[in-house]
Amino acid sequence: MNGLMMQQPLLISMLLAHAERHHAEQEIVSKRVEGDVHRSTYRELAVRSRRMANAVAALGVKFGDRVATLAWNGHRHMELYYAVSGSGAVLHTLNPRLHPDQVVWIADHAEDQVLFFDLTFLPLVEAVASRVKTVRTFVAMTDRAHMPVNSKVPNLLCYEELVAGASDRFHWPQFDEHTASSLCYTSGTTGNPKGALYSHRSTVLHTYAAALPDALNCAARDTILPVVPMFHVNAWGLPYVACMVGAKLVFPGPWLDGKSLHELFESEGVTVSAGVPTVWQGLLAHVEAHDLKFSTMRRTVIGGSACPPAMMRAFQERYDVQVLHAWGMTEMSPLGTVCTLKPKHQTLNAEQRMAVQAKQGRAVFGVDMKIVAEDGQQLPHDGQAAGELLVRGPWIISSYFKGEGGDPLVNGWFPTGDVSTIDADGYMQITDRSKDVIKSGGEWISSIDIENVAAAHPAVQMAACIAVAHAKWDERPMLVVVKKPGVTTPDAELKAELIRFYEGKVAKWWIPDEVRFVAEIPLTATGKMLKLKLREQFKDLRLG
Ligand code: AMP
Repeated sequence: MNGLMMQQPLLISMLLAHAERHHAEQEIVSKRVEGDVHRSTYRELAVRSRRMANAVAALGVKFGDRVATLAWNGHRHMELYYAVSGSGAVLHTLNPRLHPDQVVWIADHAEDQVLFFDLTFLPLVEAVASRVKTVRTFVAMTDRAHMPVNSKVPNLLCYEELVAGASDRFHWPQFDEHTASSLCYTSGTTGNPKGALYSHRSTVLHTYAAALPDALNCAARDTILPVVPMFHVNAWGLPYVACMVGAKLVFPGPWLDGKSLHELFESEGVTVSAGVPTVWQGLLAHVEAHDLKFSTMRRTVIGGSACPPAMMRAFQERYDVQVLHAWGMTEMSPLGTVCTLKPKHQTLNAEQRMAVQAKQGRAVFGVDMKIVAEDGQQLPHDGQAAGELLVRGPWIISSYFKGEGGDPLVNGWFPTGDVSTIDADGYMQITDRSKDVIKSGGEWISSIDIENVAAAHPAVQMAACIAVAHAKWDERPMLVVVKKPGVTTPDAELKAELIRFYEGKVAKWWIPDEVRFVAEIPLTATGKMLKLKLREQFKDLRLG
């Protein structure tokens, strides 16, 4: 017997319709590429999204067509999120930090029809415009006064002219909730990037789960500033969450340095933010150097790579900002786990609580996790056994776009490529990416643990731990360090000090054998340490 409830497809346009109806006056603030601060509301977002939906249709974009963006976090990007997906086309958020060759490869693979871009990325668009095969129209996300002159980009249109020239009467179409809504490519550190194609249903379900109190914990009374880019897994779902709960939204545009972010947090009364550890490093350095405070910030979600406990401590103990450690993947829309404490943890002392918070957290409702050994046997959830992490759930991919790479699932589970433990309370802790694992004398060493210790040393700005070939142990850990500006300790002395710093903090045989100092650690297009590059750099090094 079926239940007797209405059959209504879960569509992204519902989120916008809800925000317009119930939070019309709520503010959306954007720092724009043009240099101004733009203030609008959800009402205006809805009106402009409808206009843009008409404009996109007039450009010949049909149901299921891909529409690409190369854009910062801003109100126009938000309008495209709703205009494109809401009308049944697919929003493809390209990552502007990629090399032009990769952008061309990905745009061709996605068969993008129209490319919207922020002015910052004009040089990139000029470099790719004559090479991309399917893009018919380019749209600069600005007004007439700021349009590029003598640009080499063909068929170049002006965003604000499109908005002004289109009607605001548009009925969001109703269609199957399994219809594709947006497309993100994985960073492709091995082989070609692969597309994760989200659906309306997966996106709306992910939005419900992400907003929950034990997840990103967002409400109408919040002011959300997503630092995580809208070109990286839909800014972890925050553009959708904001509409669902009716929170004030603040977009930082291209200004992601510590000073600009802090000023914006303060001037707009931001309560919640989210981003990768590298961004927060810049912010903390600025706040520390100028003896500043956060007067409204309550929580920040840190994920994308492991958040060092030293960073958590700084936020929580010095600035009273709660850190929510989170883990996810492009293939998971992206949210998998968030670390919030259970009532039983309230009785722990600060040090013990920090040990829980350093974990990547518990599965959000909808995500199922297990860990398996190399032979596929399930491992116990005892916080000790480490194995490959497998996941399943309604916002986790079943296949990559166009079937690239074959069937990614193993008996219905998606292998994440991460190695982790899961404890009896369900808290998952990543020890490594499987390709970053260090195998010393047949035993695993967690490079993340080694990096977390180094990050707590006052002379260390950034630290990566990689495996180096060793005559006896096959591999041994080596620490690659960027020193904090102003540190004058000679390298040999600092190396000895760092090695001593590990004593009592990790097992003796985990202590790195070697420390090398570098000017910078290469980062991926999404701000993660590119250990592959470091391993290449030190591939001829032999220890032992
Ligand atoms: P991406 O698809 O680019 O978002 O990358 C996903 C990968 O980032 C995961 O498979 C993890 O290896 C890594 N990652 C994400 N969040 C965390 C975290 N909190 N701690 C450690 N690694 C993380």
